[in-house]
Amino acid sequence: EEKKSLNFLEQIVEEDLQSGKHGGRVLTRFPPEPNGYLHIGHAKSICLNFGLAAKYGGQTNLRFDDTNPEKEETEYVDSIKADVRWLGFEWAGEELYASNYFESLYQFAVTLIKKGLAYVDDQTSEQIASQKGNPNFPGEDSPYRYRTVEENLDLFSRMRAGEFGDGAKVLRAKIDMAHPNMHMRDPLMYRIKHAPHHRTGDTWCIYPMYDFAHGQSDSIEEITHSICTLEFDVHRPLYEWFIEKLGIYPSHQYEFARLNLTHTVMSKRKLLQLVNEGVVNGWDDPRMPTISALRRRGFTPASIRNFCEKIGVAKRDNLIDVGVLDYCVREDLNKLATRVMAVLDPIKVVITNYPNGEVEELQVENNPEDVNSGSRAVPFSREIYIEKDDFMEVPMKKFFRLGPGLMVRLKGAYIIKCDDFIKDEFGNITELHCSYIPESRSGSDTSGINVKGTIHWVSIQHAVKAEVRVYDRLLILEDASQVGDDFKKFINPDSLTVIPEVFVEPSLKEAKVGTNYQFMRKGYFCLDLDATEEHLVFNRTVGLKDTWVK
Ligand code: ATP
Ligand code: MG
Ligand code: MG
Repeated sequence: EEKKSLNFLEQIVEEDLQSGKHGGRVLTRFPPEPNGYLHIGHAKSICLNFGLAAKYGGQTNLRFDDTNPEKEETEYVDSIKADVRWLGFEWAGEELYASNYFESLYQFAVTLIKKGLAYVDDQTSEQIASQKGNPNFPGEDSPYRYRTVEENLDLFSRMRAGEFGDGAKVLRAKIDMAHPNMHMRDPLMYRIKHAPHHRTGDTWCIYPMYDFAHGQSDSIEEITHSICTLEFDVHRPLYEWFIEKLGIYPSHQYEFARLNLTHTVMSKRKLLQLVNEGVVNGWDDPRMPTISALRRRGFTPASIRNFCEKIGVAKRDNLIDVGVLDYCVREDLNKLATRVMAVLDPIKVVITNYPNGEVEELQVENNPEDVNSGSRAVPFSREIYIEKDDFMEVPMKKFFRLGPGLMVRLKGAYIIKCDDFIKDEFGNITELHCSYIPESRSGSDTSGINVKGTIHWVSIQHAVKAEVRVYDRLLILEDASQVGDDFKKFINPDSLTVIPEVFVEPSLKEAKVGTNYQFMRKGYFCLDLDATEEHLVFNRTVGLKDTWVK
């Protein structure tokens, strides 16, 4: 087997293991904020963090970064846990929460105040922003920057006690208002927010900022490699400053390029807008790039993991064609999906020389890609449906299906010949009259007739009605990063096509959510969550070929 070269993170881990930097340990973490459902970008981060640790005998923590009380909900926590497990990963021990560390973080802040490295600022956020300067111009010191340690300790404890209203005061790190990195210009550590938290309730009315929570949480957990997306590289000096000044466990931050996909958006904030404004029917609407939507649409965990592996780990931002994701699911489903017959756009065929009332149970193989998949019985009778477009009144050249006088094989059944067709008063063809060749039954064909085409069919009296939902790209736009919040102007009007009535073979009455099928010649499908026993609903996961036209 070909040995793949290591990605840059694997190289770092191997060097660290060799030098003994973290005592030979590898502990990564996946740190979602529970303010939405996970999307395929998060899947990339999950595969990377869990995959890297597993490869080097380490483990991964699942830590909810829940420092922002207003947007966070338990519903999101539950969905995130379910999605990580569905992708095939198990975190070390119980799931963790940054909010578990609120008391420790508070004490870290007190430590920095005592060292003269943090101060309480009474200014408004506008005043603070106006003093920041810009990368080419130093900022101004706050008038509160030189408060005494005693005064800062007193004010900070009163902030915690709830004496002040939202926004009345903040705690800031005392670093350097002329620092070339804007994040080092006395960044905020704590803000006052009288808002109940999904886990700590009303215990706290001050909440740590991301920069004061993330690195310290990593350190408390003794994370060895803290992997995040590129936009955090400018936060790294601050991450290191806090750890150094506090003298706590030296976790290290590394950045990789976030995943961007064509024809979609990948921000929980934007996805939430689509949900709230009814553009889609929820977080798991199969058009969404969320894990729950992909699962509902019929994607397998392996297909998503393979996708994340295939696109690799980049150090520069890039845009991946969503066709690569489709390719990965097709490749996986080709191996495992049961082949069944479903006619999406039917025309009736009467096999005139087949005995009226007779029914044959034909054995049709479940999956030619899997020798162990066996076969199932499919009933055949005198009247069947085939796809309308498998017949042409005036066949073009090389049309190897049905037309006047043409022969075709019915999958798993007989060769039939088209003798006649019937039109209604508007000139639409409503019915075909065919004759079958009794000696041509699949598996015991002695007819000696060679036909080039094979088509799928269902027996009308046995067919089951179903609804089919076909999905297309969510946005007509390839690169949504160009349009910011205008992305909603580019929703693909054809992102969902509902076919209210198709005819499927009777075995699909037993279809289960979570099983993948190939509707022969039509694509990969799965039962939707909306299906009931009386009303089957199938989602098209993906077509058999890439048909998107740019
Ligand atoms: P969003 O903007 O969608 O809310 P986020 O980064 O704010 O994304 P978090 O819940 O904070 O969402 O993300 C958890 C982890 O997943 C972080 O480590 C983050 O860097 C990573 N992540 C988020 N989006 C992507 C992406 N598109 N590609 C790779 N990793 C991502
Ligand atoms: Mg985040
Ligand atoms: Mg976010």
